[in-house]
Amino acid sequence: CSCVKVPTILLNNGRHMPAIALGTYLGFGESGVVMSKDNEFRDVVLNAVDIGYRHFDTASIYSTERELGEAVRMKIADGQYKREDFFITTKLWNTHHKREQVASALRESLDRLALNYVDLYLMHWPMGLNVDHTYSEVDFMETWRGLEDVYKLGLTKAIGVSNFNLKQLKRVLEEGTVKPAAIQIEIHPLNVQKELVEYAQAQSLVVMGYSPFGSLVARHGQWSAGPRVNDTTLASIAEKYGKTVPQVVLRWEVERNIVPLPKTVKRKRLEENINIFDFKLEKEEVDKISDFDSGTRYTLPSFWQNHPYYPFEKVDNPIPDPFLSA
Ligand code: NDP
Repeated sequence: CSCVKVPTILLNNGRHMPAIALGTYLGFGESGVVMSKDNEFRDVVLNAVDIGYRHFDTASIYSTERELGEAVRMKIADGQYKREDFFITTKLWNTHHKREQVASALRESLDRLALNYVDLYLMHWPMGLNVDHTYSEVDFMETWRGLEDVYKLGLTKAIGVSNFNLKQLKRVLEEGTVKPAAIQIEIHPLNVQKELVEYAQAQSLVVMGYSPFGSLVARHGQWSAGPRVNDTTLASIAEKYGKTVPQVVLRWEVERNIVPLPKTVKRKRLEENINIFDFKLEKEEVDKISDFDSGTRYTLPSFWQNHPYYPFEKVDNPIPDPFLSA
């Protein structure tokens, strides 16, 4: 194809992950997780494949598995692609943390995708919840046993974690019998995550960075402090390489061996975001971008902060659980 050729990263189980993934979380609105209408999202994925995306990041909670799977199957049915050409990541939701629930949760995801395996299955959060969203005390190591089970069953080619802090990741490495292949965490110039990234990489995990644009874009309908697309530091680096500020920020992750997961539903931006493999940043430029670090998180589910396995720092005024009011 005339598409962008994306390099791959070797996972610690010998498989390869494309070095960028399309994020497929469409956001959260008044009535809950935003859903695609009239197969709009399926068509985004069809475009994305034509442009060169092979790796897609979904989750059972995103409501995009069905349309993602349909697009992938259409591309395979066309005869141009094989299942092995794609890398599908999906995630276990918090209400299915008991060991015996993991296989049935993954089978439900596979039913929605209409595929017989995924490439990577992540525990979305370390905290388990009951169906009514009260805290469940189930230990994330019990859940990890469930992920090990589905890996051994071949329902997924690799397993990993998301939103685990350093201490929690260390516990999985110490007490698990299968090493996680990847950890997915929030990474952008305001949340550099130096310590966790370096530790995970030293332990041979691939780090996947979510919300890569950070303060460049509005979050939850609001602009926050931090660099925007017209930031002078970022814009001067972008100008030097004939690139855009979003491309520079994505490339900053690539230079740190992080797999960025930019989300867009717009064709022009799909093209923009993947065209980051034909230039390199200098070390000083990487460091300059890392200097924006302020530890800011846009995904901060403070409504879960009294859970024994909550991974982040607590705040004074936790917000109510939006999943309950939606
Ligand atoms: P992103 O940093 O990817 O930002 C997405 C926003 O940026 C959208 O509003 C998009 O708008 C806009 N955008 C995309 N490309 C450009 C561009 N080139 N120029 C200007 N604006 C642009 O944040 P997300 O929070 O969506 O994270 C990305 C993905 O990470 C998610 O989709 C999901 O897959 C994953 N994720 C995982 C989490 C976890 O708990 N594990 C938590 C949060 C995210 P538009 O679509 O209109 O172009």
